[in-house]
Amino acid sequence: MSVAENLAEIRSRIDELARSAGRNPEEVKLIAVSKTKPVPLIKEAVAAGALDLGENKPQEIVLKYPEFEGDNVRWHMIGHLQKNKVRHIIDKAELIHSVDSLALAEEINKRAETIGKIQKILIQVNVTGEDSKSGVSPDDAAELCREISKLNNVRIMGLMTISVSGYTYEENKRVFDSLAALAARIDGMKIDNVSMKELSMGMSHDFDAAIAAGATMVRVGTAIFGARDYGAKNNAN
Ligand SMILES: *Cc1c(COP(=O)(O)O)cnc(C)c1O
Repeated sequence: MSVAENLAEIRSRIDELARSAGRNPEEVKLIAVSKTKPVPLIKEAVAAGALDLGENKPQEIVLKYPEFEGDNVRWHMIGHLQKNKVRHIIDKAELIHSVDSLALAEEINKRAETIGKIQKILIQVNVTGEDSKSGVSPDDAAELCREISKLNNVRIMGLMTISVSGYTYEENKRVFDSLAALAARIDGMKIDNVSMKELSMGMSHDFDAAIAAGATMVRVGTAIFGARDYGAKNNAN
């Protein structure tokens, strides 16, 4: 199937899943995760209406960004972000999904201030607790939000998480429900400058459970663009 056909099918599944969860399909944004994929293939997705693109490496955003100027695309930084890379993407990212420390938020704040931008961010939470995974622990998330909320040039829009590959639907649903519950708890604290409107959760294999749990953004790569070939390039993730 073509990228356009894959996109249409996924969009209609998202709509159906949202409706069966009693939600408005328009509340669920599809982010097409284009990491490692070549520009012509991504252009096919953009032509088919996928204007929100997800990348997990700053360098890839830097390389692809000029190819899509004039296409009205929004770049989402969804991968682990090192402080020394922030300056490369600060003028390019619509939303940074992967903020998990005050130090990173401070660097984003500093760079955003320099270019007169208010950078929208999500707080990445490590719900499942594996050591290998980025993200703040659920117990520390509220305090991190409180600290970041004092920074003038970043705006917390919600939370993001990654589940565990190989989990069943029920296991994924528990992970995503707990992120939604955490967002509700933080929202209840009414911290100035902090919104919990967005829940970025769900990938190709688990966006069904994420939508049932309230995802407002799903990040889908493989199901749109096909499997990634990490051997062909020097991509570590
Ligand atoms: C690669 C990636 C995705 C997309 O994964 P697929 O399984 O290809 O849909 C989503 N979120 C993050 C953070 C990723 O790095």
